[in-house]
Amino acid sequence: MAARIIDGEKIAAQIKEGLRKDVEELAGKGKCPHIAGVMVGENPGVRVYVRSQERACEELGIKYTLDQHPDTMTEEALAGRIQELNGDPEITGIILLMPVPAGINARRIQAQINPDKDVEGMNPQNLGRLIYGTPLLGPCTAVGAVELLKTTGVPIEGAEAVVVGHSEIVGKPIAVLLLGLNATTHICHIFTKDLAYHTKNADILFIAAGKSGAVWQRYWKEKRKYNENPEGEPPALPDLSPLIKADMLKPGVVIIDVAINRIPEALDESGDPVLSEKGRPQMKTTGDVDFEGAKEIASWITPVPGGVGPMTVAMLLKNAVEAAKMAVG
Ligand code: NAD
Repeated sequence: MAARIIDGEKIAAQIKEGLRKDVEELAGKGKCPHIAGVMVGENPGVRVYVRSQERACEELGIKYTLDQHPDTMTEEALAGRIQELNGDPEITGIILLMPVPAGINARRIQAQINPDKDVEGMNPQNLGRLIYGTPLLGPCTAVGAVELLKTTGVPIEGAEAVVVGHSEIVGKPIAVLLLGLNATTHICHIFTKDLAYHTKNADILFIAAGKSGAVWQRYWKEKRKYNENPEGEPPALPDLSPLIKADMLKPGVVIIDVAINRIPEALDESGDPVLSEKGRPQMKTTGDVDFEGAKEIASWITPVPGGVGPMTVAMLLKNAVEAAKMAVG
């Protein structure tokens, strides 16, 4: 039987609709949520991210101000700016836009954001609250991914849950949240010897590795170098297949695929991406799971795109509202 699809777009839209009333009420009290996105230096990828944040905030009437600084800004000056924003009663949420220039320690800066204004939930105090099971402003992607699992209604307590990926922003917090729900939680990562051994036992599977995207990035860096100076052998063609294949799954598993891999639709005979009519590489977005194969085995599955991605945005907006409520007191 084909798996049911967990529609992240639809669930995120419902959450956002629920937040709209809260924003109106807060605005009525003169405490409209107001996020400052702190950007140091110039980066086209960050610009795209900022525009999507601005649009999402605008949709709900949340204010968003881009707080932009030159790439010559020192860590000390940035820390000073964060302190100013911490003390600014108009600003209820702060986002440190990543990446920051080399020379600035992003973690040290994130740790200085007032935990009550830390709408991305990345401050050590907010991550610590997860351990205590009392999250206030949780890390958006991890919380959003676990919320998607909850919508399926499958029993979580006592279930065998496997999380593939152990980063601070995704894998580890997901594992902590699952422990909080009393799932028997296993964490796998790049050093796990037999990934399939673990995934085959999973009733619930979260994947946040970004395998094919990372493989592609590494290959393309080498291949571009080779194209500029074609000496010796070109790099071996990359394996862009998904990390999790259908034969690695237990029948009935619930799959939450967090990964976002940007990889080419196809490679030509020389190992370069096939180009579109406009001469740009034809790219596609995939997760870490062989979706078509897994669909025949799983009971529930998230699509990529349209699964966890929209939930990350919804959780950011939810945190923005919670932070503004805290500011009202
Ligand atoms: P990361 O690079 O910091 O961590 C990757 C993790 O995957 C590491 O723990 C690593 O050990 C593990 N891993 C990598 N290759 C593996 C392999 N072959 N086998 C087993 N484990 C492996 O990445 P991240 O920031 O945690 O993000 C992970 C993925 O989630 C990426 O694809 C990223 O784009 C995506 N992501 C999505 C959202 C969203 O909103 N949907 C948000 C954040 C990250």
